[in-house]
Amino acid sequence: MGNRTFAILKPDAIEKNIYGDIISRIQADGFKIIGMKMTKLNERTATGFYEVHKDKPFFPGLLEYMTSGACIPMVLVKENAVADFRKLIGSTDPIKADEGTIRKDFADDITHNIIHGSDSDENAEIEIAFFFNRAELIGNAGLNCC
Ligand code: UDP
Ligand code: MG
Repeated sequence: MGNRTFAILKPDAIEKNIYGDIISRIQADGFKIIGMKMTKLNERTATGFYEVHKDKPFFPGLLEYMTSGACIPMVLVKENAVADFRKLIGSTDPIKADEGTIRKDFADDITHNIIHGSDSDENAEIEIAFFFNRAELIGNAGLNCC
């Protein structure tokens, strides 16, 4: 079981100025943030990140959403990080998400679902490398923490 996962606070989390509340929920669930930046995806980077979905009918809407404003990619550490984080964020569709999950409490709809979480250890490492180099992460021969 890996201990790292990758998250993105999607553009509506920034637009609505609620990303601080969401980050607090993530910290309260025991995750440590070892990498975080505010950035904006363009069509090329959003397509690269969501390559696996490029033939899906929802892809154009997903692209429009993800390029609509700033987002916050993050690297998170906790034991059993991938599964625990997927549990914390809830189902892709906020209507189907369990009570108390981040998507249930903050997301508008299945496209505008406020947050991304990796679905496997392998994808977590691929997604981390898409946004961060080692020197940008705390520990791992990167930034010193305390
Ligand atoms: N998405 C959408 N319509 C769908 C399924 C997904 O707009 O029917 C969007 C949504 O923003 C989702 C992203 O595409 O988070 C990636 O989809 P995936 O199935 O990987 O969901 P996730 O892993 O984010 O729960
Ligand atoms: Mg996914």
